[in-house]
Amino acid sequence: MSLAVESKPDVDHQTTYFRCISGCSARHSIFDVIYTCPTCGSLLEVYHEREPLKKKNAYQWQQLFDSRASTSKWPFGSGVWGMREWVVPSLADENVVSMFEGNTNLFWAERLGAQLGVPDLWIKLCGNSHTGSFKDLGMTVLVSVVKQMMAQGSSVKAVACASTGDTSAALAAYAAYAGIPAVIFLPAGKVSTAQLIQPVANGAHVLALDTDFDGCMKIVQEVTKDNSIYLANSMNSLRIEGQKTVGIEMVRQFEWEVPDWIIIPVGNLGNISALYKGFKLMMDLGLINRMPRLVAAQTERANPFYTAYKNGFAEKVSVTAQDTLANAIRIGDPVSYAKAVKAVQETNGIVEQASENELAEASASADLTGMFTCPHTGVALAVLKKLIDRGEISPKDKTVVISTAHGLKFTDFKVGYHESTLEGIDSKHANPAVHLPADANAVKDEIARRLEQHNG
Ligand SMILES: *Cc1c(COP(=O)(O)O)cnc(C)c1O
Ligand SMILES: [Zn+2]
Repeated sequence: MSLAVESKPDVDHQTTYFRCISGCSARHSIFDVIYTCPTCGSLLEVYHEREPLKKKNAYQWQQLFDSRASTSKWPFGSGVWGMREWVVPSLADENVVSMFEGNTNLFWAERLGAQLGVPDLWIKLCGNSHTGSFKDLGMTVLVSVVKQMMAQGSSVKAVACASTGDTSAALAAYAAYAGIPAVIFLPAGKVSTAQLIQPVANGAHVLALDTDFDGCMKIVQEVTKDNSIYLANSMNSLRIEGQKTVGIEMVRQFEWEVPDWIIIPVGNLGNISALYKGFKLMMDLGLINRMPRLVAAQTERANPFYTAYKNGFAEKVSVTAQDTLANAIRIGDPVSYAKAVKAVQETNGIVEQASENELAEASASADLTGMFTCPHTGVALAVLKKLIDRGEISPKDKTVVISTAHGLKFTDFKVGYHESTLEGIDSKHANPAVHLPADANAVKDEIARRLEQHNG
């Protein structure tokens, strides 16, 4: 049960709190164990009242965030906590659980952009992070709030999630850093070693259940009902607060210039909601004066958001998600649907989809310009190509592709592609290693042949 905000002494609770996205008037402290609106069941969001934040003007905020971006001073060396006033202002220093996540590189994709005909193309490499995906940005906030709850005598004793991949890796790492037990629920026999090994290494309690992913989700919700175990899955809107810093960080890296387009691969729709939330806050506080157009990129194998978009967002669509190479976005019934619709509508955004072959070839093409893209980034790059071909994105536009995970987490995908063993994938750019005798002349001939091909 949630305590009334007024009963808590901390003044920040008055201006940053959970509220219902459907408009119920109740406020809840973000240090209460609460995931959805107790009145109507909708998602909650962390709301920051704007008036207190306007005590600094836009320029002062920019200066402050700029100055913290290059420091190792606790906790400001983190891209998330460098914006702490906009994240969870009432979190005490000693409760911040951070490995200085964020501040990921945003780089100019010069050759890829030239090939595609959009010279001003940029990649925001969120996978260059502790556990190899942007999920770290959300988990630093969630686990920090849990640490503060525990310090204040809450009944919470552990954190839990059901996830086959990046979410469980991030939760396990941040919980281990804080010394808080983590419980991870996975479907037995359906998870690869690569998906399992991060939580295993971080000492999480990894429970493999005889059911599928949805079955695990039901059990984790049951287990977290009594409030002694805190639920870290997507309906928990604290993660959005950390993830929203990626858009602010990107604009800061562009010296407060707003790109024309941002393309992001989506599954449960939390990350695109977070991206929008960060931009909206910058607009409201005057740090920027226009919004970028947000593009949600889905795989054809799990495309409920694309389908809803095609229907003019008349209603939420659920599908049965099919197997896809982009397995982190294999989601048929996205939790943050309502928030994401707003993100697309209010930015004049677009939702587009990509096939398995399109995502694999887009990923391989990008790798040939020096990247090592995960399949989800492949989805975003395939969608980029479609929007350029359609003339939506024009050659003068500044475009950012959000790369959500490190390609090294998905080596099975890369190996399969280059060995041409992925079903239904052309592997047009397969580049397998060649086996030669240890003979200098044979080697010279092969090199000469290849360099000729390269130049031809
Ligand atoms: C979680 C995840 C996504 C999708 O983010 P949502 O918030 O679920 O839309 C995309 N790519 C990777 C690598 C992820 O781990
Ligand atoms: Zn409500």
